[in-house]
Amino acid sequence: MSKRKIYISVDMEGITGVIDWGETEGKSPDYQYFRKIMTEEVNAAIEGALEKGAVEIVVRDAHGFARNIIPDLLNENAKLLRAWASSPYSMMEGIDNSFDAAIFIGYHAKAMTAAGTLAHTMRGDILNVNMNGISLSEMGWNSLIAGHVDVPVIFISGDNLICDQAKEIIPGIETVAVKQGLGEANLNLHPNKSKLMIKQGVENALDRLDEFSPLKWETPYSLEISFKKTRLANRASWYPGAERVNDFTVSIQSENFLDCMKFFYFMH
Ligand SMILES: [Zn+2]
Repeated sequence: MSKRKIYISVDMEGITGVIDWGETEGKSPDYQYFRKIMTEEVNAAIEGALEKGAVEIVVRDAHGFARNIIPDLLNENAKLLRAWASSPYSMMEGIDNSFDAAIFIGYHAKAMTAAGTLAHTMRGDILNVNMNGISLSEMGWNSLIAGHVDVPVIFISGDNLICDQAKEIIPGIETVAVKQGLGEANLNLHPNKSKLMIKQGVENALDRLDEFSPLKWETPYSLEISFKKTRLANRASWYPGAERVNDFTVSIQSENFLDCMKFFYFMH
């Protein structure tokens, strides 16, 4: 088995059981419980990766203030990237072309997904992110960043609706839905079951690594961001090269994906 280097980006809204913002933020006692579950789900992915030849693993904590995963509970074979670096790589900080595959744990559905658990896209006042005519979740956006540095995305866990949205962007991606949205409620697997399924899903994805390729779309890129408030579109329209599409929407076109990353970075 070849030696593999694996990148894992971890959000929190799609961790088993999470249903409320208070469970994903500093002050609530429930947060302490769910960050442990979050760490354990990452460990399940790490164990799956180690089983299939991973020799280097970087875990990017990518939720809230990006200091959620509990360092000494994390599998000791991984390195943990904490806090924000103020760069357009954002939830994908630290990824480069030395990695063989990227994995997403704890991800959630995009903004305006009715039964998505805590559904949003980057910040609460973004209505939609549209790239080359296709509406993107954070998973979709982050997959394009991985593609920009030639790394394929092979696995995602989270709620059932982000799993559906992920398959639209990357057909064949291995998914594990740890919960199902029911209006504003959700129906969860037992956390132990989630961990078993995540480990197995990562192993399955790595068994078929040859079937995946980095996500790259045709140029020129056209990135449109729609906001819930015209004030934010007003501000965005001053970005160099940006065009106002309508009251709520601003776009940028470029041959270079990094230009799109910079634009989006300054919008959220
Ligand atoms: Zn988050």
